[in-house]
Amino acid sequence: MSGALPALEAEPAQLESVPCSLCGADAFAVVVPSKREAGRVVDLATVFRSSGDEPLQDQMVRCLSCGLHYVRPRLRWDLILEGYRAGNDESFVSQVAFRERTFRRGLDRIEAAARPPGRRVLDVGAAGGSFLAVARQRGYQPAGCEPSAWMCDFAREHYGLSLNPGTVFDLPLAAGSIDLLTLWDVIEHTPDPRAVLEKAHQLLAPGGVLAISYPDYGSLAARLMGRRWVFLLTVHLYYFDPRTMAEMLRRTGFLPVRSRPHFQTLELGYVARRAVPYLGPLGGLATGAVRLAGLEHAPLSYWVGQTMVVARKA
Ligand SMILES: [Zn+2]
Repeated sequence: MSGALPALEAEPAQLESVPCSLCGADAFAVVVPSKREAGRVVDLATVFRSSGDEPLQDQMVRCLSCGLHYVRPRLRWDLILEGYRAGNDESFVSQVAFRERTFRRGLDRIEAAARPPGRRVLDVGAAGGSFLAVARQRGYQPAGCEPSAWMCDFAREHYGLSLNPGTVFDLPLAAGSIDLLTLWDVIEHTPDPRAVLEKAHQLLAPGGVLAISYPDYGSLAARLMGRRWVFLLTVHLYYFDPRTMAEMLRRTGFLPVRSRPHFQTLELGYVARRAVPYLGPLGGLATGAVRLAGLEHAPLSYWVGQTMVVARKA
C-alpha cells in the first residue's frame, strides 16, 4: 500500500449518479438498497483493487428501459481510479501459476470459437500480465494496459512485459492495430462499459476478436445465492446477464459468437479463505479442514457464475 491516498468519507459529494451505460435512460428501480453509512471511512486502495472483496455497499438498480443492472449512485470514478492506481495486491499475485492455467484454457476456448485474423493481442486491465505471458508463448505479440503501477512493475519483473500504465483510453495505439482484445473480469469494474467496447471496436482490425469474462447476474449460481452471491462486490459497478451483454455487444458493433460458463482455477486454500465472509461460522471450519487435509495448495476449478463471451467485430 502506498499510504498516499487520503481516507475518504462517503459523503454525497464523493458520490456520482450516472445514466444507464447501455441505453442512456435515466429511469431506474432499486434492486439492492445501499448499506453505505454516511461518514464511514472508505480506504480506496484496499476496496478498489483487482481482488477487492468487500460485499457490495452501494445501491444496485435496474434500468427501466433496457434492464441493465448497475450501481447508482456510486463513488466518483476519479476516486475509484485513484484507488486502482495506488493499489497493490500480494494475495492476487500469489495465484499467478493458477491464473496462467485458467488463461491457457481461456485462450483455447477463444481460438476454438473465433480465430483472430492476426497475432496482435491487447489485454485491457492486464493486472500482473499472466494472460499476456500465456499468449506470448503461443506466438502472440502482447500489449496491455493496467492502472496499478504496482501491477505494471510486477509484470515487468515477473514476465518481462511492458504494460502501459492507465486505462484503454490512455493507450497510444492506432485504430485497427489489434487482432484479439481481451477483458478478463474487467468490464464490470469500468465506469462506462459502452465507451470501453466502442474503444475496443476502434482498436480492433476488421474481423478482430473480442473476449470478455464477467460475473453473470443471470446465472444459476447468482440466482441460487441471491444477496450472498460472491460477485456482489463494491468493486463491481455493472451486473450483466447474457441478454444485456449481447445487447451491449450489438450496440457497439460486435457479433456475439459464443457464450459459455468460464471456470477459473485457484488454490483451494485461497478460495476457502475468500469464501469465509459468505459461509459465516462454517467458513472457519472449512479453511481449517482444508489446512488439516493438506489441501491448501491443491488446484480447484470453480464456477460461481463467471461467463465468457467471444464476439467478432462486425
Ligand atoms: Zn438502459
